[in-house]
Amino acid sequence: MPYPFTFDLSNLSRPFLEELKRLARKLSRPEVLIKAAKSMVRKFRIDQKLGIKPSEAERVVSDLLHLYSVNERLRDSFHLSKHRVLVLPHCARKYMDNRCKALFDPSIPTYICASCSEDCLINAACSLAKALGYDVYVVPGGSCLRKLLSRGYDGVVGVACPEEVVRAESLLAELGIAGQAVPLLRNGCANTCFSLDLLKEILATP
Ligand code: SF4
Repeated sequence: MPYPFTFDLSNLSRPFLEELKRLARKLSRPEVLIKAAKSMVRKFRIDQKLGIKPSEAERVVSDLLHLYSVNERLRDSFHLSKHRVLVLPHCARKYMDNRCKALFDPSIPTYICASCSEDCLINAACSLAKALGYDVYVVPGGSCLRKLLSRGYDGVVGVACPEEVVRAESLLAELGIAGQAVPLLRNGCANTCFSLDLLKEILATP
């Protein structure tokens, strides 16, 4: 189930993000992650900062910890991957109406960015990934993932809601594909965002 609430993590402090990564490096068991998430929410007052309930904040932070711990676990096999793809969410496009000039190819399915806006996150991410040899898909939803990943890839970088990444983990294991994830920092149906710096860092994995 998608989160029944919205959040914006884009202004959270660097110490919070550093702690998230530090804990994810050493924790992996779900019950330990949940406990750590509760403690982080209390310590950094995440519910108050985001204006959501403590239980909602704990769910997001727990999913983020899980996401970073999966990244840690799959990093070595991702290093070895040779045929990589970047999967981006269409909700991070600058425009969600006909001002977005991307073409939609339903056969894949993917939006094909036409680079109409220099300050569009999707445009920037597509350019970065293509320059590094990645195939890129801008997808209308997570249900397309199995079809896309069955096109012969052995490595995937996915930008998605933390909870979608948690769900995709079993699909990657089933298909034998190494993944790295970049979480959406702001969720919702439109105007979502992610860290281009983190994406850059992951895409550049040799
Ligand atoms: S840059 Fe690409 S994704 Fe962004 S609004 Fe334009 S066509 Fe759409």
